[in-house]
Amino acid sequence: MGHVMRTPEQLEAVESFRRFLADRIDPVFNKEYRDKFIPREKMSEIMRQLTEFGMISGAVSEEHGGLGLDWPTLIMLFEEVAACSVDLSTPVVINSFGAQMLEKLAPDHLRERYLPGLISGELFVSVGISEPDVGSNVLEIKTRARRDGDDFIINGEKTWISNGSYSDFLICTCRTGDDPRKGLTHFLLDRKEHPYEVQDIHKIAWNSQSTAQIFLNDVRVPASNIIGKEGEAL
Ligand SMILES: Cc1cc2nc3c(=O)[nH]c(=O)nc-3n(C[C@H](O)[C@H](O)[C@H](O)COP(=O)(O)OP(=O)(O)OC[C@H]3O[C@@H](n4cnc5c(N)ncnc54)[C@H](O)[C@@H]3O)c2cc1C
Repeated sequence: MGHVMRTPEQLEAVESFRRFLADRIDPVFNKEYRDKFIPREKMSEIMRQLTEFGMISGAVSEEHGGLGLDWPTLIMLFEEVAACSVDLSTPVVINSFGAQMLEKLAPDHLRERYLPGLISGELFVSVGISEPDVGSNVLEIKTRARRDGDDFIINGEKTWISNGSYSDFLICTCRTGDDPRKGLTHFLLDRKEHPYEVQDIHKIAWNSQSTAQIFLNDVRVPASNIIGKEGEAL
């Protein structure tokens, strides 16, 4: 982003973040754990440190406990993370994206329960859209959520899910109706309360972080765990 004008405050924030990444994070990703899987506890310790520089917390407004950074500043900071380690950029982006979804779409009880942990770096989220044979074309999502009284029962499979084995909860896009455009709904599944099975995928690169398959077998989840409105996930 060399052509973007940066304010003195942005330059200072980027400089101090770059120094921190070089001193404290680069040795972890590029020496100690180079091409090796970073265990969840270690990744969580790193995320907690990054939140102090506006990662995850920056993507959330002050009203909901974040730092409320503007997008150009956030992108400059993200850019530094990716330049230090592309592996690290994945949990940072996914947790920020999940935090945005919670802030903008979740009912109060879910936002209040899960957002603070994401902002502080304690919790990890996964966002489950892709499935075998369903990547770019999300209209083809097959994972089914069927109504059963006040609950839904979910069956299906997700693949290439970042943060999979780290995740405390999954925002899972499911088919709740047959209309391709009005038939998709997001659910929040808590890994302990609505257990889903996670299997890490070994890749040819990018193995310091988790990318996983997720299997959903008769997972029962209350309708109150819908994020956004039923049928409006697209
Ligand atoms: C490391 C990694 C992490 C990921 N993390 C997540 C995650 O956290 N959550 C999640 O839900 N998904 C995740 N994904 C999945 C990712 O979003 C999909 O791989 C992506 O959407 C592309 O889908 P696909 O792989 O099925 O490719 P396809 O959809 O099969 O596309 C293959 C190629 O065809 C092109 N193409 C597709 N459709 C068209 C069209 N109509 N016209 C012209 N060209 C087209 C594409 O541009 C691409 O070049 C991850 C993937 C990877 C590799």
